[in-house]
Amino acid sequence: MVQSRISYLREELNKYAYNYYVLDNPIISDFEYDKMFAELKELEEKHPEFVTPDSPTQRVGGISSGFEEVKHKYRLYSLDNTYNYDELRKWYERVEKDCGKNIELVCELKIDGLAIALTYKDGYFTKGATRGNGIVGEEITQNLKTIKAIPLKLFEKADVEVRGEIYMPISSFEKLNSESEKPFANPRNAAAGSLRQLDSTITAKRDLSMFTYTAIVEKAETIPHTHWDSLQYIKKLGFKTNPNIRLVKDIEGAIDFCKEWEQKRFTLDYATDGVVIKVNSFACQNELGFTSRAPKWATAFKFPPEEISTKLLRIELGVGKTGAVTPVAILEPVQLAGSTVSRASLHNFDEIKRLDVRIGDRVLIKKAAEIIPKVVKVSDTPEHDSLPIYEPPKLCPECDSPLEEREGEVSLYCSNENCPAVIRAKLEYWVSKDAMDIDFIGPSVIAQLYNLNMVKSPVDFYKLKEEDFLKLDLVKEKSASNMYNSIQASLKRPLNRFLTALSIRHVGKETADIITSEFPTLDSLISADFESLAKIDGVGEKIAKNVYDFFRKPENISMINEFKSFGFTFDTGSTQKRSNELEGKTFVLTGTLESMTRDEAGEKIKSMGGKTSSSVSKKTSYVVAGANPGSKLDKAQNLGVIILSEDEFLKIIGEK
Ligand code: NAD
Repeated sequence: MVQSRISYLREELNKYAYNYYVLDNPIISDFEYDKMFAELKELEEKHPEFVTPDSPTQRVGGISSGFEEVKHKYRLYSLDNTYNYDELRKWYERVEKDCGKNIELVCELKIDGLAIALTYKDGYFTKGATRGNGIVGEEITQNLKTIKAIPLKLFEKADVEVRGEIYMPISSFEKLNSESEKPFANPRNAAAGSLRQLDSTITAKRDLSMFTYTAIVEKAETIPHTHWDSLQYIKKLGFKTNPNIRLVKDIEGAIDFCKEWEQKRFTLDYATDGVVIKVNSFACQNELGFTSRAPKWATAFKFPPEEISTKLLRIELGVGKTGAVTPVAILEPVQLAGSTVSRASLHNFDEIKRLDVRIGDRVLIKKAAEIIPKVVKVSDTPEHDSLPIYEPPKLCPECDSPLEEREGEVSLYCSNENCPAVIRAKLEYWVSKDAMDIDFIGPSVIAQLYNLNMVKSPVDFYKLKEEDFLKLDLVKEKSASNMYNSIQASLKRPLNRFLTALSIRHVGKETADIITSEFPTLDSLISADFESLAKIDGVGEKIAKNVYDFFRKPENISMINEFKSFGFTFDTGSTQKRSNELEGKTFVLTGTLESMTRDEAGEKIKSMGGKTSSSVSKKTSYVVAGANPGSKLDKAQNLGVIILSEDEFLKIIGEK
């Protein structure tokens, strides 16, 4: 029984490892692989008589064909890992048992890439190889030479072997995938696939980089004695090291580092799947030594999984406010990143075709910084080929009207302008936070109001009396009054919100802000000519046409007149442009400001011609950091973006 379970696990793990290491195309998630691996390891520990040398627990990774094999001078190892803090504490107890109390540790991000070893003689790069099985790797010197983060000549004439991780930035991975027929599952596979190209001109075209984290020094001006010092030394030689490292005095310090990065990792433009914790002193490392596949002086804490596989039960269709029909994957519920997931995005029908997702498949789903998980690919499904290919719908799931394609768009659209689902979606958008912000009315109230023929268009909201809401299920006086009052309160929303709420194609919140800062009154907006709209920076001809055409339709003008009759003030808000002093500058706001809210600060920036953004990138001009800033501050520091205190910001906007 135990023996057959062991051989089953071995066979499965070997199959998964082949797909992962050789084909660069994993067919299950790392979390599931690690779970099976841990089970095999535990069974083998209890039954050492069944351990064989070819067991995945006894060896490192794998190698693929195509390149010349090269024997490593110094063996490369893997790392033991855990998803659990108590296991880290147990590991530290073992370290203390061998080396004494209070052993210092170095924490580093575990870069999710591909391990390589680089040899330098007299300061010159002579050879580069993949880790392979740790004893023998593949010689890929030519390909490595195309990577700019790898120096061909060091700042010192050292004889040294360094190790590090080749990775592909997430932004480059997404770009590469969007252009490729056969997308990679994740940045790690993309990096491995790009590096192991027989034609190095292909590697050169891919955006690869490297973080170096180990040096075995043979001849140098100074020989480091701790891991921390060796990281500084590596940097001094001219290599790129990861800035997010910390020297801590015990395991609790390391656990704090892991907790910090569990969330912050999503702000980085490279994938990290955990934290590597290493004993700092080399003397102590020597004392501890290695197992057959990993050092005992280091361990990896792996972050909760972002990816897992589960069964696709069916595909549900939703209809949005533009009439676009979107497929949603309904899944066998699974735990992922702390919540139960039973739905995931499939984007559009092209994506289903591209991934060849079929109902009944096991699919790999991923949840990163975004809230809604998405289907990444088909996972290990032996019966995949016998399942029917998914056929996109021909009729609208709501009103049975034919679906149509639109030029330049990937979605299918309902051809019925009065499709009930489209009308409900527009009403839902009308009440949403970015639009009229009517907080007591949500999708289920809208569905009832629509079904009872009480609201068919946004104007109908304003015709409702307080007692009308009592006709809805479970609504009593108090909520009826809340609903009524929140609708009435929306009569005071400024023009930019009103323009957003109108659901004009491609006019979302940001665009509505830009347009109303140029045309701050309703009358000026209605009479704006096409050229003046198209001239606005960030608008362009397509959007200008949509806005212009909208205000030319008599039914829209009569709707606006009706709104006016309800008492809409169309207050211009504070987005009216005062100057152009901040033109071309993009600000990101983080933390709490003392003198104003972040929204107010944003309005001021816009009123001076600047832009705000919710995420930091190389293009960000300034990050304004208030009290308790978030991870955006770290990202700004990493990217070298200018960081302003509140005082400095007030000076820039002329308020100090
Ligand atoms: P690993 O990736 O878990 O850990 C070891 C590696 O971490 C090192 O070789 C090194 O390349 C890397 N690393 C990154 N940052 C580092 C740093 N700062 N310091 C030191 N090392 C650092 O181990 P592995 O042996 O390469 O692969 C095993 C793992 O791969 C499994 O735990 C599993 O998650 C995954 N895997 C997945 C599948 C699958 O089908 N999904 C199959 C095989 C393996």
